[in-house]
Amino acid sequence: MTLDVHVLGTASARPTPERAVSGSLVKGPDGIAVVDCGEGFQTRYALQRRRLKRHSVGETLKPSAVDVLAFTHGHLDHTWGALPWLQSMDLENRQQPLLVIGPTSAEAMDALLNDEPLPEGIPPADLTRQWMAWYELGGDMIQFPIRWVLGDVNADRWMEINPDTGAAALLDGMPQPSGWNNSTLRPVPTEHSVPSCGWMVQQHAMAGKFDRARAEEMQLTTKQRAMVARGENITDVNGETIAASWFRGGERAAVSVLISGDTAATPEAWEASIAPTLLIHEATYLQQQQEKAEEHMHSTATGAVTSAHAVGATYLALTHYSNRIKDASMSVGEAKAAAEGVAVVALNDNDRLVVDDDGGLTHLVWEREGWAPKSIPPNR
Ligand SMILES: [Zn+2]
Repeated sequence: MTLDVHVLGTASARPTPERAVSGSLVKGPDGIAVVDCGEGFQTRYALQRRRLKRHSVGETLKPSAVDVLAFTHGHLDHTWGALPWLQSMDLENRQQPLLVIGPTSAEAMDALLNDEPLPEGIPPADLTRQWMAWYELGGDMIQFPIRWVLGDVNADRWMEINPDTGAAALLDGMPQPSGWNNSTLRPVPTEHSVPSCGWMVQQHAMAGKFDRARAEEMQLTTKQRAMVARGENITDVNGETIAASWFRGGERAAVSVLISGDTAATPEAWEASIAPTLLIHEATYLQQQQEKAEEHMHSTATGAVTSAHAVGATYLALTHYSNRIKDASMSVGEAKAAAEGVAVVALNDNDRLVVDDDGGLTHLVWEREGWAPKSIPPNR
């Protein structure tokens, strides 16, 4: 098992010929989580799927494996591709359930739960208002089962909306994508100009690696080896017990990927205990535009590093560049100068980041005729 991230858009608000707007996916042990879905996402997804078929034989990105579409916030560069994609899935006769989830404001939640009209002050970029518009545009006609869930992330309060009536029901807690047993989806509060959160996909801790060398040394038969590998103790010819636990290293740590969405650097809720293996963080600006970053509640590359330090990330990947940044090497240069104990990479469209079960990271860079691994120099 691994966590395989496909980055399908690295531009901030305005796309460029080389960079599309936001939208990434994490393929984990249970299925695919799509995080954000800007303009044209479905085309990018289909293209990536085709690339994978051609260049990574045996790996797939079946749309039916997408279990959740999670939004970090309601700005259009993160949402505009969602409704068309849902409608395409419907036309393709999708049957699998889908969780569509995102953050909203306490005010919007209260209004919906009390069956009242949304207060005037709720901006169009609040997902509640946006979803209501989608329902009117045909979102309520989609045939496959969708759970529409919005939450006040800071208060951990969640509601499910009925797209036919617009009525909402309070939930016991945040629902997980259907069928997820080996991984967990978790919101992490961020700080942006509208209700927002990052999303973390965490693969559960796994048993340690099987120690083949030891099994060989002890001259176990194939059958005995299979038994201890399954966790069964066996008895040797002298009647002595050979414990299965001798052949397993300690439990491997849970590995995880956190995608920030848009945020000011070092959100207050970010603490070292969150400790994602990989943090994918926005880096809209360079250091010289620090003021702009603060004004618009975005981050600089250096700010992304302070976020990574605060949240205890092992690896940091930069994305969401302003179109003034022509070459992400500038961003990664600034970030590396500030990073301590965090390895930093810069993302471009169609890159992949693969987190293995031992917490190692491979950065695969798309190069027209396939993905090439790019070395990740460790940071001081
Ligand atoms: Zn954005």
